[in-house]
Amino acid sequence: MSNEINSSNFIRNIIIEDLNTGKHDKIVTRFPPEPNGYLHVGHAKSIVLNSGLAREFNGKFNLRFDDTNPTKEDTEYVESIKEDVKWLGGNWDDIFFASNYFDTMYEKAVLLIKKGLAYVCDLNAEEMRKYRGTLTEPGKESPYRNRTIEENLDLFERMRKGEFKDGEKVLRAKIDMASPNINMRDPIIYRIAHAEHHNTKDKWCIYPMYDFAHPIEDAIEGITHSICTLEFEDHRPLYDWVVRECEMESIPRQIEFARLNMTNTVMSKRKLKQLVDEGIVDGWDDPRMPTISGLRRRGYTSEAIRNFCIAIGVSKSNSTVDSQMLEYFIREDLQLKAPSAMAIMRPLKLVITNYPEDQTEMLEIENNAKDETQGKRLVPFSRELYIEQEDFMEVPVKKYFRLFPGNEVRLKGAYFVKCTDVIKNENGEVVEVHCTYDPETKSGSGFTGRKVKATIHWVDAQNAKPAEFRLLEPLILDDAEENEGKNFLEQINPNSLEILQGFVEPTAVENAKPLDKFQLIRNGFFTVDSKYTTDEKLVFNRIVSLKSSFKL
Ligand code: ATP
Ligand code: MG
Repeated sequence: MSNEINSSNFIRNIIIEDLNTGKHDKIVTRFPPEPNGYLHVGHAKSIVLNSGLAREFNGKFNLRFDDTNPTKEDTEYVESIKEDVKWLGGNWDDIFFASNYFDTMYEKAVLLIKKGLAYVCDLNAEEMRKYRGTLTEPGKESPYRNRTIEENLDLFERMRKGEFKDGEKVLRAKIDMASPNINMRDPIIYRIAHAEHHNTKDKWCIYPMYDFAHPIEDAIEGITHSICTLEFEDHRPLYDWVVRECEMESIPRQIEFARLNMTNTVMSKRKLKQLVDEGIVDGWDDPRMPTISGLRRRGYTSEAIRNFCIAIGVSKSNSTVDSQMLEYFIREDLQLKAPSAMAIMRPLKLVITNYPEDQTEMLEIENNAKDETQGKRLVPFSRELYIEQEDFMEVPVKKYFRLFPGNEVRLKGAYFVKCTDVIKNENGEVVEVHCTYDPETKSGSGFTGRKVKATIHWVDAQNAKPAEFRLLEPLILDDAEENEGKNFLEQINPNSLEILQGFVEPTAVENAKPLDKFQLIRNGFFTVDSKYTTDEKLVFNRIVSLKSSFKL
């Protein structure tokens, strides 16, 4: 993975200092997803950062599943996360599951009880909320706070054995109900959940809370720099408290950075799951989804996503990135990689009336106009072609230089054609355009006799392959994340998917496989869809249009 993300950021500076002062001689970072959904592009930012830092400083990078919540987690998610991290180039040195540390976590909870630093509390959720206090008022101590160590040890043991129902009791850290930091007001560290866990099955019916589990996981693995998003800044005192009071040998340091937010994008597994569950998209990998699997199916390359993550950088204040910035990086990446082809998405028949009826010639057309070394291909051309409907106007508007009766244009890589007349259906719509061609004007023949103002693309009607084109627009119309409280489902774009039936020239796509990428001349960058493509018909997703007004 590229190291450029580290060229300048505050986290990198902390690491350099820690290495220089000898605090650590080797750094260890981790990416700790909860397997409760598929990864999204926000996670990519964390993967690129954590794995990039480990690589740059010859350290170690762990993939750790933070699987402490049995009801939401699933092995399907574990597998997809592994695949996505690998695909992004975040090669982990070790892979761990937090659930494998449940024994240690249990022992540490017992240690806290023995030190008088944890107690079993019977308040229900509602009462606990009342006792917690507010930002301006201190909390109130629980009536169960002064249970004896023996009583707490006994009750906690019985919680583990399954003697109580969900919610009946919790284990709380005994810290300070008057702390100005609400996270320090006797936070819950263990709760009861009679649920099967994807890894430990029914071994446990009590599960550690994130704020207790995470620092222990980090310490067990010898994580030196535990990088998380800014929401956890207020949790850091608790993180440090757990590491200290649980007497962990290795002491990790939590560092917070701004999460990635993007316009027109929901960036939360919970919301993305809702889109899947309600059938608004056709799965986690729907090409309109900001998931890694969705972006991959859309035709994004891991290089483009990584370069985007590097460019957005790492900061201490939240902001929202324009989603066009991500598009910029895929254009940059595909410019030279994706071979060109001609495809017609909204076909209109064009007949060259003076072209021999049974003739087909093979025209040489360059594979990539920006890179000669990619050579040329042979494209069939004959009397009947398809052009785009928008490249013809019966009554041209001002400054329209493409095809209209009496006007001459160049067919890309072929000849000049001049429109002589049209055929209409009973509704008066043009269904066929008739032209004559000038054999003198063949591309590459050095013809200089006269000029035309437009070049249009085409496919040969007889040889073209039928193809479906899926034009994708943002799934979310507004910046949903900024409208918290408002249901993001109200901001779904009803026109995020347009499906067109057309044709693609045969040679370029002869051996096309799912996820192959093409620059379809004038129409954009496209990839072959991995779900809907069949032997009979290629289905293309538009990755991105060719141009944007966005400047980096
Ligand atoms: P979500 O709300 O989407 O489920 P999460 O933070 O709960 O996100 P986790 O699986 O806990 O998801 O995240 C794993 C790691 O990815 C965490 O370290 C988290 O900080 C990081 N991460 C999650 N979302 C973003 C984001 N938008 N930008 C940067 N890092 C993120
Ligand atoms: Mg989460």
